[in-house]
Amino acid sequence: MAIKVVIMGAGPAGLLLAHCLLSRSNDYEIYIYEKRNDPRFLDNKKRAFVIGIGHRGQTILKQINGLWEAIKNRGIPVRKSGFYSQKKETWQTFSRYQNPEDCNLLINRNDLCITLLEELEKCSNKNIKIVFNATCLDTNFRKKTIILKSKDNRLIEESYDLLVGADGANSVVKKSLMSQPGFHFEQSYFNTNWKVLHLPKPDFMEPETSYGFRQIENSTYIVGAALPEVNNQICLLIFWDKTSSKLNQNPPEITNANEFQRIVKDVLLPGLQLTNEQAEQFITKRPSSVIQTKCNRYHDREGKVVLVGDAAHAMSSRLGQGCQAAFNDVWVLNQLLQEENNNLDIVLPKYSEKQVKEGHAITDLNAYLSPRTNWLMILFNSMILLRSKLNEKLPNLIQPTPLNAVSQTLIPYSEIAHRFQHWIRLIKWSNQK
Ligand SMILES: Cc1cc2nc3c(=O)[nH]c(=O)nc-3n(C[C@H](O)[C@H](O)[C@H](O)COP(=O)(O)OP(=O)(O)OC[C@H]3O[C@@H](n4cnc5c(N)ncnc54)[C@H](O)[C@@H]3O)c2cc1C
Repeated sequence: MAIKVVIMGAGPAGLLLAHCLLSRSNDYEIYIYEKRNDPRFLDNKKRAFVIGIGHRGQTILKQINGLWEAIKNRGIPVRKSGFYSQKKETWQTFSRYQNPEDCNLLINRNDLCITLLEELEKCSNKNIKIVFNATCLDTNFRKKTIILKSKDNRLIEESYDLLVGADGANSVVKKSLMSQPGFHFEQSYFNTNWKVLHLPKPDFMEPETSYGFRQIENSTYIVGAALPEVNNQICLLIFWDKTSSKLNQNPPEITNANEFQRIVKDVLLPGLQLTNEQAEQFITKRPSSVIQTKCNRYHDREGKVVLVGDAAHAMSSRLGQGCQAAFNDVWVLNQLLQEENNNLDIVLPKYSEKQVKEGHAITDLNAYLSPRTNWLMILFNSMILLRSKLNEKLPNLIQPTPLNAVSQTLIPYSEIAHRFQHWIRLIKWSNQK
């Protein structure tokens, strides 16, 4: 008899899980429920942002026939980073990879989901049903059912054999787990807000290059990036400290559209002239916050429930690993189901044993590999520079930098966090001060 897998959330994690299960076996009957509309019918650019899929994510996507090629066609490969040299008063770029074949693929989150959906529709063994505009309201682990609200406000009860919470940082499935004995959950908000703006690519931006900026002075903290997108566009992401901004709605010292235009052109991205309309659009937009969550397990054995992706571990986007960590959860879960012949009593605890330490490690690496005090930033950057030069010359002897280990290798996050635990502790201490 087929195993009925109900996946809550048609984000990258939920959709990739459907691919993994369907491409491997006919044993599964899959139902995906998503509270939003089908992304193919949305004006996807307003709040959607670009995410980078590096070596880890690509390695997993390449395991599914044709999937990586389809996703690659919707994104922009990035091989260089750019920064503004105040001394030379010009933009400078440097190559990120030793191997010219390597890249970080930048893709709009909605385009990623659309591609995953389109490729799912091509699966020959279509034992899958995807329902949009269906919001999970509650779960009943004892009866193994979920309650959903449809677009026309009808309540639907759906049974499952395995329930997968792929419903993001504010997961309803996780909320149900919180009432189970022995389940511990921590949640914190970073002191950071962010906004996104999509713009035509300015002339100074080279192809295949992402540009970073940061302004850290006294109480001002603004960091961000201009990331290339398809159709000759860029995605401008700006993060700032809430405490350094009186109103929190916008970065410090930016109270109107004119001021924003000036700061972008003179300070953050010299040379980028925003139109009045673009600046106004940014200023009036609602900011988003950054949430971090940690759970002591990602499953409930009796309820036959498992969490993947942001539902299991929401984190800061500093290292651009959230989606790739989500893909890794999905891949590990898929492998365990195969190895253990779908015996959920064995699969679910094993999944938590493997993935909780990975989730905690990448959450910490994201939170603490970014010093905020000038003295520590200089020390940290010197370590990165030295280690990167030595690693280039003596790769067998000197380990890569923590940032390269995360973005360009498959070394488990837990091992990287262990190697750099002293830096994590020092930066955590200094940032908290
Ligand atoms: C600014 C920014 C930049 C980022 N950059 C990167 C990057 O460069 N690289 C990277 O790897 N990651 C990046 N990330 C992280 C990445 O976007 C997330 O980790 C990834 O989207 C997680 O996928 P998910 O499927 O687990 O969750 P989500 O993408 O949150 O998807 C969850 C889905 O569940 C649905 N849902 C929620 N609640 C319910 C409910 N009750 N009922 C039904 N459906 C529900 C939601 O509508 C959503 O579609 C970035 C994140 C941000 C904010």
